[in-house]
Amino acid sequence: MKKLAILGSTGSIGTQCLEVVSRFNDKFSVDVLTCNRSVDLIFEQAQKFKPKHIVVGDDKSYKKLCDMNLSYKANILMGVDGLKEAVSESASDVVVNAIVGSAGLIPTVNAIMAGKEIALANKETLVTAGEIIMPMLKEYNVNMIPVDSEHSGVFQIMQNAGERYIDKIILTASGGPFRGKSRDELLSVKAKQALKHPNWEMGRKISIDSATLMNKGLEVIEAHWLFDKPMDDIDVIVHKESIIHAMILYDDGCLMAQMGSADMRLPILYALTHPNRIVAKFKPLDLVQVGSLNFEKPDLNAFPSLELAYEAGKMGGIYPTVLNAANEILVDKYLSDKIGFYDIPDGVKKAMDKFGNSKTPSIDDILNADKEVRNWLKSEVNA
Ligand code: NAD
Ligand code: MG
Repeated sequence: MKKLAILGSTGSIGTQCLEVVSRFNDKFSVDVLTCNRSVDLIFEQAQKFKPKHIVVGDDKSYKKLCDMNLSYKANILMGVDGLKEAVSESASDVVVNAIVGSAGLIPTVNAIMAGKEIALANKETLVTAGEIIMPMLKEYNVNMIPVDSEHSGVFQIMQNAGERYIDKIILTASGGPFRGKSRDELLSVKAKQALKHPNWEMGRKISIDSATLMNKGLEVIEAHWLFDKPMDDIDVIVHKESIIHAMILYDDGCLMAQMGSADMRLPILYALTHPNRIVAKFKPLDLVQVGSLNFEKPDLNAFPSLELAYEAGKMGGIYPTVLNAANEILVDKYLSDKIGFYDIPDGVKKAMDKFGNSKTPSIDDILNADKEVRNWLKSEVNA
């Protein structure tokens, strides 16, 4: 029986992780659940899974949850300190980090220091602090297993073929809801349209990132750290069916691909059972039904965020943190229709020019830059 700490349990990945737990309740139990403000949902989840520790984001949510009379005694905590305490005090074997945004960084650091294996969905951890996190994993002898489907794909391929002869890593992108559209056609698209992803059901932030292709850019940086490959050796191919999640091109010319339905429960389950696979009876992938698989180059003119992420990843230092923080704020504004589609990459570029530098950052530098960029952009976009 593996005990899990699920951070961000009320989100898209968090709820799917709990579905996996329910399905295999002889294999997994839950020791920690956390959310920001979705108190009603976390109450329901707690009643069902009986975690020892529950963490919510703020004072108001904390009071509300305490007043809700759980049917058992739980340790209710709040804020970043609560997350820290729950992660390090809990008896969990694996910390599933499914928090969205740079708020996921500190819990990853705490989990590593507590010696917990990490199932990582929070890509922002490696985007902002890959340079610090990767050596920390070695120092504390901690495993980090990717949950992001593309990285899970690369990781799964690597289980069967050695790492040594890799020429390129190829991540696929569905292309999102605006695949094939030109820049002119996208000038006035609204969040409502951007949220309609053709293949995946995801949280709101990552759905917009998929529409701008920033998500793929963040994933290239994530892969760069996770698999220790230069940014230029990680390619992105648009593959509208989202059946192949990732490929590895070996030096001998062999291209290996990992395939699966667009169902995040599969990479979640693999992250929790690795290096084993268990009989799961998820609907098998039927390639005859899929019919054909298509591939094309990403259109960097229509989707400039992908190129910005490559630039940030190559320049290193604080650039990826600045890119990520600016993108988080701008996506938030876009979601409430306060700015246009291309104000996102334009604002990210401005922030990179203003705040970027390539000096190796500390965790404090990252947290400070994150805050600085947010504050600046809040007044800059004035919305
Ligand atoms: P989501 O918005 O659906 O859920 C986010 C969770 O984090 C919620 O439980 C929320 O309460 C919590 N949270 C939000 N802000 C917080 C804060 N400041 N402090 C603490 N907790 C906070 O997001 P999601 O789509 O599940 O994505 C989670 C992470 O997984 C992201 O990094 C995303 O890029 C990555 N990811 C998601 C998918 C997907 O299919 N949804 C796929 C691959 C990777
Ligand atoms: Mg992904």
